[in-house]
Amino acid sequence: MTAPIGPPRLRTARASSEPILELRNVGFCYRAPRRSAAEVLGGSSLRNINMSIRHGKAHGLIGESGSGKSTIAKLLLGLTAPQAGQIHFDGELLTPNRLAAFRLRVQPVFQNPLDALNPATPIGKQIIAPLLVNFKMKSSDSQARLVAAISAVGLSGEILGKLPHQISGGQAQRVNIARALILDPEVLICDEPVSALDMTVQAQILNLLSDLRESRGLSLLFISHDIRSVAYLCSEITVLKRGSIVESGSRDEILLEPKTDYMKSLLRAVPNSELGLEMASPSKGCSQPGERRHLSAERS
Ligand code: ADP
Ligand code: MG
Repeated sequence: MTAPIGPPRLRTARASSEPILELRNVGFCYRAPRRSAAEVLGGSSLRNINMSIRHGKAHGLIGESGSGKSTIAKLLLGLTAPQAGQIHFDGELLTPNRLAAFRLRVQPVFQNPLDALNPATPIGKQIIAPLLVNFKMKSSDSQARLVAAISAVGLSGEILGKLPHQISGGQAQRVNIARALILDPEVLICDEPVSALDMTVQAQILNLLSDLRESRGLSLLFISHDIRSVAYLCSEITVLKRGSIVESGSRDEILLEPKTDYMKSLLRAVPNSELGLEMASPSKGCSQPGERRHLSAERS
């Protein structure tokens, strides 16, 4: 297998209604031997999950803590297998023999950017590691990909020789995104990617994800408990409660006509103006370049 070299593939030509990654009737239950059956069934299951992330779109997933959001992320990354139902990628059933290739095309961005980095390894080496591991590429051959990846996330070459403790949280999350992009994936699974960052930096990372979606045709799953971030970035939203989907639909359907008390209470806490309900049509995606909710200050 060889890595595609050169500029990232632009994937916007795909019909936007087509799902790239789907969960169909998925069920999952953590098997914890010391728990009672009632605890297992009550707390840690996903039940009958149907969810589609569409080509080139950002799909928001919200829900209370413990509702199963990170478990869905693990399933969508192929890190754990569903115990019921199926995962489909690009129209094909995800089977064990397709798993290795699938894991290259769907990449994660996690919550705590510094925890996701090895404290003793220079940043540049960490970004190219997936190329060296997966494609046995020589370090010298990976340099063009490295330069493209850091430029895509708005970092300069100076950062490559630094160690994680020498960079800020915002820079660390950009590094994690660059490491995810180095394999030229089609989907990013972002599990609370801005929750550990301060407000200004959150806005910058949201803008970066929005730009990447638009410029590279990337599809995103964006998990967050911050309804403002989801409203800004996502054109479709799924709401999870105790392992079941309780609402799912377009951004406007969920934000303007919430059905559950959970969604209603989230919305009561945030003025409409902060949700940008008067802007961008969801069918176009919600990140129009001139309509940024938080205009970023300096990069950090
Ligand atoms: P969220 O991301 O929405 O906070 P999670 O997917 O992390 O929720 O967890 C869903 C439920 O599964 C919670 O009840 C959690 O305690 C349980 N859980 C998560 N990971 C494990 C695990 N490795 N083993 C057993 N139970 C787990
Ligand atoms: Mg979680």
